[in-house]
Amino acid sequence: MKRVGAHVSIAGGVGNAPLNARAIGARAFAMFTKNQRQWKSRPLTPPEIDAFHQGMAEGGFRADDVLPHDGYLINLGHPEEGPRQQSLEAFIDELERCRLLGLNRLNFHPGSHLRQISPEACLDRIAESVNRALEAVQGVTAVIENTAGQGSNLGFAFEQLAYLIERIEDKSRIGVCLDTCHAFVAGYDLRDAASYAEVMAGFGSIVGFSYLKGMHLNDSKPDLGDRVDRHQSIGKGKLGLEPFRFIMNDPRLEEIPLVLETIDETLWPEEIRLLYSLVETDQD
Ligand SMILES: [Zn+2]
Ligand SMILES: [Zn+2]
Repeated sequence: MKRVGAHVSIAGGVGNAPLNARAIGARAFAMFTKNQRQWKSRPLTPPEIDAFHQGMAEGGFRADDVLPHDGYLINLGHPEEGPRQQSLEAFIDELERCRLLGLNRLNFHPGSHLRQISPEACLDRIAESVNRALEAVQGVTAVIENTAGQGSNLGFAFEQLAYLIERIEDKSRIGVCLDTCHAFVAGYDLRDAASYAEVMAGFGSIVGFSYLKGMHLNDSKPDLGDRVDRHQSIGKGKLGLEPFRFIMNDPRLEEIPLVLETIDETLWPEEIRLLYSLVETDQD
């Protein structure tokens, strides 16, 4: 089954996230586990954790249907030791929050070299940070998101994702999340059947579908290869509807969260219905 959802709000408490997801007809969802623009948050309380479990049961969601996203300040590849350590501590805290909520994955952006160190040195720092974090918290998989490659952000090329995975000691707890907008603006064309097939085959051979733990379904305001991260509503951007038809009919993408991060959340119920309408039922 395809599990389409959206990155829903935790306003009023994390327990509201599964209820917000259910209300829009989602079969999966993403969420932050804390304020994504602050370094520190108070720990989750037992009543908040209970409310989350109750929401999960009411919404009919399994842990595998949830792809939490880490905060925006974290840079695990920061060239300076102080900020890198601060990022590592925040990342460990986020993994721990996921574990306390009974969740099993945490989606993160690899990091940025800030033009102070080489991309390779930055990737090495990221891998080392992830190894230390995975040692500190058990039971949660770190899920690397491919990026748009804006500024000095790394992780825009499949080879960079593979480079990171290669350096992670516990291969059972490293995964990848593919963002369609990021892939497209990083130069991966998905707009026709041939280009989609080629890009996905490349992903399969360079990274491997066994590592794919979720996708972000976003159309794109910028064009192919623009290296600018601006999401658009499904079918209204430079990607158009076709890539999403290929995704919804791709048997390699079953049972993983397929999460909308599109710009107009009032359209999410409609976008979820639209995506399910693209499934060609006669194929199987
Ligand atoms: Zn992201
Ligand atoms: Zn994304």
